Amino acid sequence: MENHDIILKKLETMYPDAQCALNHRTPFELLVATILSAQCTDVRVNIITESLFREYNTPKDFAEMTYEELEPMIKSCGVYHNKSRSIINTSRILLEKYSSQVPEDMDELMSLPGVGRKTANVVMSNAFHKNAIAVDTHVFRVSNRLGLADANNVLDTEKQLMQNIPEDKWTTMHHCLIFHGRQVCSARSPRCEVCGLNEYCRYYNADANKSQAAEII
Ligand code: SF4
Repeated sequence: MENHDIILKKLETMYPDAQCALNHRTPFELLVATILSAQCTDVRVNIITESLFREYNTPKDFAEMTYEELEPMIKSCGVYHNKSRSIINTSRILLEKYSSQVPEDMDELMSLPGVGRKTANVVMSNAFHKNAIAVDTHVFRVSNRLGLADANNVLDTEKQLMQNIPEDKWTTMHHCLIFHGRQVCSARSPRCEVCGLNEYCRYYNADANKSQAAEII
């Protein structure tokens, strides 16, 4: 069995419950939560959305707000000026152009303000159950350390993961790689000695790079 296949199987065994950590009930709530999650933890986003979504949870609700009204409600997740504009402007477009529905199309999603490739992939896979690999900081770091990808940017990493992982496992592996990044393979202090994948990890096993594994993004 190829190293890639072994790694994928082990990840699935290690994280059988890996799933989207952003609380949401609708595709629109997931879209808003994912916009809020940029440069912020999912835990913090869930705290914000728990109260926010009680009062505001449709494109119409947000479209009728001013930026200044929304900002204090999302301030603790950082970059709140931009996020407020993205959420309200996206809501206005959804209301006017998409009958308040979140589009199930990558290009249409990515045309919305504040929605990049990662956010669109998160929505496609978790809200619409389409096969997609969203490459966030954890997926980028862990997949390149493990050798599932060998790239220096997120787009190439996504393309390589799509080649190296069977399509029906894209969404599962996205979540597994995030869980592994959070629980074991952190950016600064990966716990390689206790990592169940160290036998197959490119960086851990590359003598030249062994002591530098912690410094890879
Ligand atoms: S061996 Fe170390 S660098 Fe490799 S996946 Fe495990 S924790 Fe990350």
